Formats: sequence, C-alpha cells, structure tokens
Amino acid sequence: MNTSKAHTQPSKYLNKKLYDAASQLMPGGVNSPVRSFSGVGGDPIFMTRGEGAYLYDVNDKPYIDYICSWGPLILGHAHPTVIEQVQAACADGLGFGTSTPIEIDMATKIREFMPNMEMMRMVSSGTEATMSAIRLARGFTQRDKIIKFEGCYHGHNDSLLIKAGSGALTLGVPSSPGVPAELAQHTLTAQFNQLDTVQAWFEKYPKDIATVIIEPIAGNMNFIPGDKTFLQGLRNLCDQYGALLIFDEVMTGFRITRGGAQNYYQIKPDLTALGKVIGGGLPVGAFGGRKDIMQHMAPIGSVYQAGTLSGNPIALTAGLTTLQQLEHADFYPTLERQTQRLTQGLQQLAQQHHIPFLTQQQESMFGLFFTDAEKITTYQHVMQCNTERFKQFFHAMLELGVYFAPSAFEAGFTSIAHTEAVINETLTKAETVFKEMK
Ligand code: PLP
Repeated sequence: MNTSKAHTQPSKYLNKKLYDAASQLMPGGVNSPVRSFSGVGGDPIFMTRGEGAYLYDVNDKPYIDYICSWGPLILGHAHPTVIEQVQAACADGLGFGTSTPIEIDMATKIREFMPNMEMMRMVSSGTEATMSAIRLARGFTQRDKIIKFEGCYHGHNDSLLIKAGSGALTLGVPSSPGVPAELAQHTLTAQFNQLDTVQAWFEKYPKDIATVIIEPIAGNMNFIPGDKTFLQGLRNLCDQYGALLIFDEVMTGFRITRGGAQNYYQIKPDLTALGKVIGGGLPVGAFGGRKDIMQHMAPIGSVYQAGTLSGNPIALTAGLTTLQQLEHADFYPTLERQTQRLTQGLQQLAQQHHIPFLTQQQESMFGLFFTDAEKITTYQHVMQCNTERFKQFFHAMLELGVYFAPSAFEAGFTSIAHTEAVINETLTKAETVFKEMK
C-alpha cells in the first residue's frame, strides 16, 4: 500500500468551505446522520478516494479507515477485481428492470454461505431488508406486535426507530419524532442479553407478537456480542409462542464467519436480513429464510414488496465479486488475526499508560470502550462508558491519520487490506495518543 502519496499539509480551510456549502444544501451537510461529527464535535471530513485500508481527503491526506463504508468494504477500498468486474458490467448497461442471470448466481452464493436463506429477495438497502422481513413476519403470523432491543438499529423504518442505536443513539433521538403513536405501540422493546425482559412481553401478549428482531451481535451500540444462551432462549420463546425470529445480519452477514452470526452460534432464525457486504460497496440488501414463509411474498403470495432497482446488475456484480473473494481458505483467519492484533495492541498500550480502556472483538468487527469494566454485555454498560475520553481519543487519532467511527456507539470494521503493517502504523500512532491522554 502506498502511503507516501503526495501528502500536502491538510488545508482545514478547503474542508470548511465544502462543509459550509454542503450545510446550505443538505441538513447537517450530510446525507446520513452518522457521517456528521455531532457525536464528537467538529466538521466531518470530505474524502475523495480510497485505496486498500486508506481513505484520502480533499487535500490528499491519508487516513487508515476503520469504518470501511460502515461495514461493506471487507476487501478494503477499490479492490482491483471488484472494480474490474463492475467496469465490465457497466459496459453492458446499468440496469434493465428485468430478471438477469446474475440474480440467480447471487442467490445461489448467498444460500451456499448461509443455508438458512432457503429463498430470498434482493432489495437495495438494509433498511428495506428489515422493513420487508417485518412486514412478511406480520403477514405470515397475522399478528401486529414486534419485539426489538434497546440500542439495536435495524434501519430507519417507522416500526424500528424506537429506542434505536447507531446515529439515532449518537444524536440522542433513539425514538424519532414522526413515528405515529399508533404504530409505535406495536413495537415492544426489551433489553439485549436479558432474556427475562423478552419473556415478560410474551407472557403479557402471548398471541400478539409476530416477531423478535435482533442483531445477534450488536454493532450499533458500540460492539456487544449476543450471549449464546440468550439467543437460544429467543429461539425457544419464539417457538413456544408461535412468533418468528429475525436475525438482522446486515452488519454481521459475511463478517462473523462466512455464514454469519447464525453459523457462529448455530442458531437458525426464521428470517434473515442482509446488506452491506453483499453489495461490496454498492446498494444491495436481501431478506430471506424459510421457504414456506418466503412463499407468502408477492407475486406468489399476498405480502407485497417491490423495488425498481432491486437486484440491479451492477450492484450485484460488486456484491458477488466480493463474496467470491471470501472463499479463499485463509481469508477469515487472516482477517481475524489482523483485527486481534489491533484490538489487543490498543488494549495493551492503554494499560501501559493507565487509561481505563477495553476492546471487544469478533472476526473483523470490534468495539472500543473507555471504561474500567472487564466486559460490556448490555446497553446500560455502554451508556456508562466515558464518552469524553472517546472524543479526545477520536480527534487525536484523526489528526494523526486514523479514522475511527465518529461516535462512541458504533462498531469498528477492518478489511483484508488492514495488513500487519497497517495495524502497526495504527498502534504507533495510538501510543502517542494514549501517552498524552489525561
Ligand atoms: N441493520 C443493521 C444491523 C444496520 O447496521 C444497518 C445500518 O447500519 C441497517 C440495518 C440499515 O441498513 P441501511 O443503512 O443499508 O439501510
């Protein structure tokens, strides 16, 4: 990786000018709130290109990127094979609004990686995937209520923007205005990793709950793996009360092993929502699962869902080419080793400099917590962490050219391009930062 590119002194002026212009045109100057720096202060940085593990800003300053487009870029930026295949596909046209052979190739590959996706439908975002899965679950069970977990984020659907994580949590509006109370009353919220809070809802509404939706490994309230007995408990409760279990694997899909968190835990959800990695950087989502449930979708069933750009051939080319790269035997072990090097290294450095700090990590996802706790397993734990310290760390690292998510409530991501050299560069910079932290 070439890090010695022309690296002019960053001109804060140029970035400021762009941000001012953007702010006149878009609320907060951004097209998605998580991109703003509302959670950490300061102006968001305008980037112009990416290569491998690095992003380059408008002044060509490089940053080691631990956001990876919020998860999709498991191969790093501008992976040559993906770019080549997308360019070739573009030459045949950008989309046809008809069925195309690549949809079959994509669905076959997804089912090969995740056999629980017996039948599926492609959409264009994670939000669409979870929204459609919920509608299907409601249509199938003929029930209205759903259970979600405080701090979990499933996209910006009305039914799901209740006690949500990610940007909604960062900005302090986990339950968004604009969601009708009549709709919100059907969303019951429970506590992540606390089964009794779910059991209580089922006991109260034994015949009304259509589905339980969960990020089996939560990446939108920092990073909290689900406890296996808790997840198994959800499966059992759903079976007992005739509700469907939806795993939202928009983030974890193809990051937590090739088969997702459901493979890691060996727990079978009824439906799964996917996004991010399956688009390889372009807009793709999918939902799917049990064939008998999926057969309730239009046009063979009565639950309606549609999309002008669903299954777009260019987006699927980026996604499928990305998934094909994951088949190399050493892909996941390498990714995990590199990520562990990062999280263990950061933890050791913080310890040396007496900073209360904890990392949690699984495969290529991780969380950074400024806390003296030994483990973070619940939403309440996350909320007790020191966000002021996080802000200090974030800005100091950014100044040195390391770009973590601008929020104490987001998971971090690595890619296969985050080689040992890149991690070492990060750790060297982190040492300087921890040393000077108060
Ligand atoms: N589900 C999870 C777990 C997510 O992390 C996200 C986005 O971050 C979504 C759903 C929504 O996906 P999208 O932003 O593609 O609509």
